[in-house]
Amino acid sequence: MRLLLIEDEERFAEALCSSLKMEHYITDWAKDGEEGLSYGLSDVYDAIILDIMLPKMNGLSVLKELRTRNIHTPVLLLTAKSELNDKITGLDSGADDYLTKPFHREELYARLRALTRRQGGTVNLQELAFNDIYMLQGSNELYCKTSGGSMPLNGKEYQLMEYLLRNAGQIISREQIIEKIWGYDTDAEYNNVEVYISFLRKKLTFLKANVSIQTIRKLGYKLTD
Ligand code: CA
Repeated sequence: MRLLLIEDEERFAEALCSSLKMEHYITDWAKDGEEGLSYGLSDVYDAIILDIMLPKMNGLSVLKELRTRNIHTPVLLLTAKSELNDKITGLDSGADDYLTKPFHREELYARLRALTRRQGGTVNLQELAFNDIYMLQGSNELYCKTSGGSMPLNGKEYQLMEYLLRNAGQIISREQIIEKIWGYDTDAEYNNVEVYISFLRKKLTFLKANVSIQTIRKLGYKLTD
């Protein structure tokens, strides 16, 4: 899953990004409101963590602008205790939830799970499933109900499998995969995608799953029964 963190406190942001990485989130970090808005407008994120007090453009203006421009990515506002009014304005402006600083990481993860679940629709509790395979959030294993087996997934494999599962039955282009898994500022090329697709195919074969990743010529890939 891909997150956008809009936060100007560098140390806090870096620590947050690295703990989110341990939870298998890919996080892009924007240091001010303007940068955050331009990232957010790309509409590639599963959720946005938005600080209110930001240089160049404050968080509430970023939020209003995103909603005005039809970006419905779930937004979790970060507020200071003194910013009660901002919190209310924020929820009125289309924020989905808020957290008061300082907060426990576990609470943040729980809020993020709730936000992204709400958006997905097909996501049942904390499980992401298609036919006989499934992944559990918080675990880095891919499970197969038919064989009863499981295989560990490394970081990129996990993110790619999650992306495929969330879009099961639909064609995903290589461009979308690169954008989602590697991000914009990347040297990743199409053969990086192919390499990871082939890793996942081997794992699906090993698990004897009734699911495969189909290559759709010139278009991309599809997770199919
Ligand atoms: Ca701030």
